[in-house]
Amino acid sequence: MVGSISVLGSTGSVGVQTLDVAERLGIPVKAMSGNRNIKLLEQLARRFNPEFVCVYDEDAAKQLKISLADTDIKVGSGMAALTDCACCYAACVVTAVSGSVGLIPTLAAIDEGHRIALANKETLVCGGEIVMQRAREKGAQIVPVDSEHSAIFQCLEAQGSERALRHILLTGSGGPFRGKLLEETRNVTPAMAVAHPKWNMGAKISVDSATMMNKGLEFIEAMHLFSVTPDEIKVIIHPESIIHSMVEYTDGCVLAQLGIPDMALPIQYALTYPERMDSPYSAPDFTALGKLSFFEPELEKTPCLALAMDCARRGGTASAVMSAANEEAVALFLKEKLCFGAISDIVADCVYELALSGTPTLEALRNADDVARRFVKENFRKY
Ligand code: MG
Repeated sequence: MVGSISVLGSTGSVGVQTLDVAERLGIPVKAMSGNRNIKLLEQLARRFNPEFVCVYDEDAAKQLKISLADTDIKVGSGMAALTDCACCYAACVVTAVSGSVGLIPTLAAIDEGHRIALANKETLVCGGEIVMQRAREKGAQIVPVDSEHSAIFQCLEAQGSERALRHILLTGSGGPFRGKLLEETRNVTPAMAVAHPKWNMGAKISVDSATMMNKGLEFIEAMHLFSVTPDEIKVIIHPESIIHSMVEYTDGCVLAQLGIPDMALPIQYALTYPERMDSPYSAPDFTALGKLSFFEPELEKTPCLALAMDCARRGGTASAVMSAANEEAVALFLKEKLCFGAISDIVADCVYELALSGTPTLEALRNADDVARRFVKENFRKY
């Protein structure tokens, strides 16, 4: 088990659940960051008493500094503080921020050889080659928190060092609009899109689940994390979300990881790995479930998933452009400035207009992120 942690994105859904797990396991929280929810961040800082708290926004940090003036907790702001938060306080950082903002602090923590409990999938989607290469060089462990990747990680662990993998079988619930035609969901509201049938998550990832972009991001994440090609990953729709993913080996045997759909389980495993610790959670009640079902993904009804799979094959900056454009498009949708069906339209147009091939540098990725965001902000009214 890790000795202490820092948590990037501590006020988000995974962040708060991580802190609950850490408290239950008695793991000290040395540093934490938040985004805009300063009130919650203050409460969490008082509850966990870290050495350092940071907020990206400078004004919000000033406000927090005043609120925490009666404590010894240091307060910082900006990317430098977020990077310090990841590097300087604990040997394990949980990256639970949403979006590509996680990339730089994650790389910095890797340089320190820290364990990365990775909940921020955009980090690998944008900079997968660079992150994994750096982690190999520095000997930093990347332990996934995303439930599917935790499942695959556990199935691969069970096999030991000998690699005889044929396919990764990446499962997904299909989201709240499974089976619906594109025309039927074009104008759904943010409230409808964030109401996920199986998982309780933050707004951005809930919308990504509804468009199936989340499964697309996970496809790319899996490709980098487990060094496989797009052809070695199969997506399987499994609405009950009891199997969290599987690994098919060359002899035709398949290992699956099962559990109730609660993020506390993969979070706990990322913190206790390679050990397992007690938890208050029960295994699924199989006889009550009766059966588990599986379907082929319907790519013609899920253009975001199809696009992400195409970006995975294209390489270059395609995934970084897609992810940044998607972040902006989802933010506009949540503000009711873009309709649900237009998310995939504008993200696809952005990718096919802006993505570059070749092996991207960090600079090229940063640039791709900027131009993609600008494209969406300048063009969304046309959709
Ligand atoms: Mg997931």
